[in-house]
Amino acid sequence: MAPHPGTWLKVTPQGLYCEPGGFFVDPARPVPRAVLTHGHADHARAGHGAVLATAETLDILRTRHGEGAARVMQAAPCGRTLKHNGVRITLLPAGHVLGSAQVLLEWRGSRVLISGDYKRRPDPTCAPYEPAQADVFVTEATFALPVFRHPDAAGEVARLCASVARFPGRCHLLGAYALGKAQRMIALLRQAGWDRPIYLHGALQRLCDLYGRHGVALGELRPVPAPAKRGGTVLAGEIVIAPPSAEATPWARRLADPVVAVASGWMRVRQRAKARGVELPLVVSDHADWDELLATCAEVGAPEVWVTHGREDALIHALAQRGIRGRALHLVGRGEEGEAEAPEAADEAAAPDAPAPPVP
Ligand SMILES: [Zn+2]
Ligand SMILES: [Zn+2]
Repeated sequence: MAPHPGTWLKVTPQGLYCEPGGFFVDPARPVPRAVLTHGHADHARAGHGAVLATAETLDILRTRHGEGAARVMQAAPCGRTLKHNGVRITLLPAGHVLGSAQVLLEWRGSRVLISGDYKRRPDPTCAPYEPAQADVFVTEATFALPVFRHPDAAGEVARLCASVARFPGRCHLLGAYALGKAQRMIALLRQAGWDRPIYLHGALQRLCDLYGRHGVALGELRPVPAPAKRGGTVLAGEIVIAPPSAEATPWARRLADPVVAVASGWMRVRQRAKARGVELPLVVSDHADWDELLATCAEVGAPEVWVTHGREDALIHALAQRGIRGRALHLVGRGEEGEAEAPEAADEAAAPDAPAPPVP
């Protein structure tokens, strides 16, 4: 009989540890060997010994942390199985951001699928989620409440375009996470027929370039010009994309009276949008919503689901009603806000003409 996954995949202070393989998955602290699901800062930290991830994730890691990101980097294409100390490792697309992958681990006939962050909605900037069968499914629960049902992203982008048409004399400042959301919003704008140049906060440029190198066409992107005089640049009728909360920094003074929009799953919560002074909240998320979480757990078919972080109580309760055993892992270091922005913010701080947004 195959061993129960709990006997060989352990929850440690650093994160999930595959004992027979001798490696961690998305560890919270530097470790000798790590498998990384994707490039967001709360999953991919710098300073590991050896790292296994998709080529795109390794490129993101290098872009954010330089060659010191890890001592050894090994790229694994999705769908190809590698063997390490008798453990079979297969990466499968997670549909979250460019290069994002789930990690399927198999040992002595026992299978665990570690999904990292994922979504089921189409995204023109990354490969779609690919389900697999497992004995244990490890999932996040960021938006695990019935109130979170993400609307169609194209509809939210249409609202942005409609607002631009309604306020032709103002620019629209769109807050979006530097890795994934910004590029997805640009690609969705292009799909919606927006063919004008899109203006970028400096913190987004390198990751947009990286997406371009990996074949994701984003059209013409321009830096936001520094204002010639006090009062800011108007950029009337244009769209500027910046990291979330950049609108609250001195950087935003270079724009005169922009319409402030933010693209995030959290914009479903009206008070959050209001508290931040967001005029145009756009509910666009790179995480699974309530229905997607439950559908994915059903599809994977695991009798047991381990929940890494988020609203684990609600998800575990709903799974119990469906005969699935849930377990809260309480992994440390995973961002409640979704994704940390620290690396780009720090880089941007070094550039004198572009102060960094505060780290949330
Ligand atoms: Zn993520
Ligand atoms: Zn995450």
